[in-house]
Amino acid sequence: MIDLLDHIKAQISANGPMRIDEYMATCLLHPTLGYYTTRDPLGAQGDFVTAPEISQMFGELIGLCLAQTWLAQGGPKSFTLAELGPGRGTLMADILRATSNVPGFADAAEIALVEASPKLRDVQAATLTNHKVTWFDTADALPDQPLYLVANEFFDALPIRQFIRTSQGWRERQVGLTDGALGFGLGPMSPQPALAHRLEDTADGDLIEDCAQIAPVMQALSARIETHGGAALIIDYGDWRSLGDTLQALRAHEQTDPLAAPGDCDLTAHVDFEQLAAAATPAQHTRITPQGVFLERLGITQRAQVLAKTMTGPTLETHIAAHRRLTHPSEMGNLFKVMGLYPTTQTPPPGLEP
Ligand code: SAH
Repeated sequence: MIDLLDHIKAQISANGPMRIDEYMATCLLHPTLGYYTTRDPLGAQGDFVTAPEISQMFGELIGLCLAQTWLAQGGPKSFTLAELGPGRGTLMADILRATSNVPGFADAAEIALVEASPKLRDVQAATLTNHKVTWFDTADALPDQPLYLVANEFFDALPIRQFIRTSQGWRERQVGLTDGALGFGLGPMSPQPALAHRLEDTADGDLIEDCAQIAPVMQALSARIETHGGAALIIDYGDWRSLGDTLQALRAHEQTDPLAAPGDCDLTAHVDFEQLAAAATPAQHTRITPQGVFLERLGITQRAQVLAKTMTGPTLETHIAAHRRLTHPSEMGNLFKVMGLYPTTQTPPPGLEP
């Protein structure tokens, strides 16, 4: 069987160098050889660990935040409870458990998962075995009704393009072949009108990134939330207006060369929250809030203390470490940011107030 490296080399030989977004999309979602298509990459045995896999507290607080927003908006009787890129389904399971005591919420919720990987859909089905779940290929296909949604580490998996500013204009970074091996190179100079605003904060030699898939996803969410009500919580690593090369490959929890093992390691890039904000209309967006601040405002410390009462020994130590990992500024607390999307007529979701 051909492997993904051979497939990519053959593509480049036939068509010339590949853009970074094409390379990323091929590595992650090639129908038979892609990283997400062929495996469950999460957890201690896998390549990376996400917040819901670190502690149940993360999903519980997200669930209560969404349920509180639903109540504040009058508790619509039928709504979509959705997640983009649900991984193993752990976050959705924690949301459903934590909100099961909110009167009316579970009965009104229609669970919708947007997932590209058939393999991970199977894992999600097994995790959520007691619930009726509908899967969708894209955010655009979500039903036209109130939408309460979470996306944790979804946008960082969307393919980016990279451009280097030179004295004559922008040149696009590409993946080509040098002596039979994959290597980075630069395409020809080409005008990039969409990058005009980046002339103000860059100098020659700077590299910037652009994610074309952010806008259509945000617009699909925003249109539903503004028209029918709801909210979206977007949680990811990144910052406002990213600068520099943030393409990163992870394998067995270690950073590796993004070209070394296509399809066998996770590829992500920092999320540029300015791009999320720019596509947030017609609904409105909150300011970006560090994950640690968001979780503290939602009461993670009180929740951690309640859970700690039932624990001893190594379980208690793991629990204390998980709380720290999710919230401490030197761990995930600052690197990860949260942005909320909500109707122009409503107040922001709890934890994301200015
Ligand atoms: N949210 C989960 C998993 C994050 S990993 C958690 O916090 O644990 C990224 C997830 O997004 C995976 O489920 C992956 O298969 C999915 N994914 C990546 N690109 C996607 C795309 N373009 N469309 C739909 N799902 C995608």
